[in-house]
Amino acid sequence: MKKSDLVLTILIFAALILGVIVGQFFIWDPAVTSDVLSQKTAALQQIGELTFVQPLKMLVIPLVFVAVLVGVTSIGDPQRLGLVGGATMLYYITTMMFAITLGLILVNTIKPGAGANLADFETEARASYQTTQSAVENPDAPTGVGEVFLNLIDQMIPANPLKAAVEGQTLPTVVVAILLGLALVSVGKVGRPTIEAFEGLFQALIKIVMWILWLMPIGVFCIVAARVGTSGLDELAGPIGKYALTVVLGLLLHGFVTLPLLLWLFGRTNPYRYFWQMRKPVLTAFGTASSAATLPITIEEAHRSGGCSKRAANFVLPLGATINMDGTALYQAVAVVFLFQMMGTDLTLTQQLIILITATLSAIGAAGIPSAGLVTMAIVIYAVNNSLAAGDPNLPQLPLWTIGIILGIDRLLDMCRTAVNVWGDAIGARMITKLAPDIDDEREAAMA
Ligand code: ASP
Repeated sequence: MKKSDLVLTILIFAALILGVIVGQFFIWDPAVTSDVLSQKTAALQQIGELTFVQPLKMLVIPLVFVAVLVGVTSIGDPQRLGLVGGATMLYYITTMMFAITLGLILVNTIKPGAGANLADFETEARASYQTTQSAVENPDAPTGVGEVFLNLIDQMIPANPLKAAVEGQTLPTVVVAILLGLALVSVGKVGRPTIEAFEGLFQALIKIVMWILWLMPIGVFCIVAARVGTSGLDELAGPIGKYALTVVLGLLLHGFVTLPLLLWLFGRTNPYRYFWQMRKPVLTAFGTASSAATLPITIEEAHRSGGCSKRAANFVLPLGATINMDGTALYQAVAVVFLFQMMGTDLTLTQQLIILITATLSAIGAAGIPSAGLVTMAIVIYAVNNSLAAGDPNLPQLPLWTIGIILGIDRLLDMCRTAVNVWGDAIGARMITKLAPDIDDEREAAMA
């Protein structure tokens, strides 16, 4: 490791630990309402946003466009792109399903919600649900499985690509970059100067990310202190504490056992060494709770430290930040079963299968921004409620206000699941590197 890299790593870890200490012991106060705490942490939150998160967000759309384009032109042949794309999708879907299955096994074994009395939580939960109700019950949000699919397709074909980019939508930007990349390769020699210009632009954007990385210690300290300061770590008691521990245990097992095992088996790479190489994006994801804002760092580190090929990483990572969310999928499954347990309803195997499918879709549909998974979780609740009503119309349905029960702890869980989301993308990039290594000569030949 270079000396500057070591200094930066030490600074980042120190900032993280200091952030937790300051948030928990100097800001958090259980006697004070969350509104007052939010006011207290507002300045810290703003400094963190301005110094670190906003500069990263500034790069997301340009980098997604340029990285995907460079990745596609380096793959060259559309047939090979199809193979890489297919393998990537297979990876995303299977790992999300593994994560959900693990979550379901844990929540059914630990039963964090069993024996609790829902009525004891109602007043408080209804009050906190009000703050998020408009987002969860947004009439424009897709509700059924079919609608989620249609919504995805709709996003993939932007009527106005510039508008989509201006609005910060990554999925349509990826689609346009793939198309243009393929077209630039297929026009042969005349496309070459443009491809080279984009390669230069890509290197320049990566350089900017490297500069921004030096702001990471300040950003991580401010954001973590603000988050811990508003939520505190004391809520880890009673059924909500047990629920949080179930989610964290699931995330740890998925992040440190399942995903590493896959990388070791299919990528023939030492997963823990790779984890260390990718520590900056994982920590950034933890600090910002946003896979999208973390994306520039994920791409930069995958290239510079992680040994991922341009062909794989530039394609797998931007798409993964929007689609592949193992942590979110696992958390949604645990949360929904937990809330049903609190209501005293034991879900059947069929209903758990519905959770498996809808949680995958709703995690895919969740944007890479804070709390997105909490909002799209309504899709899973609607689907299970429908299945309950189809079996027996007299069975009680899970009311959406119950989401208020898990809202308080969600800020902290969001940080943990986002770290796993980004780690899952990073593992995918390393595995697909085996399938699509960078071979410059081949590219030269393809463009000649
Ligand atoms: N914050 C998560 C992410 O950006 C999404 C979620 O809320 O689960 O990946």
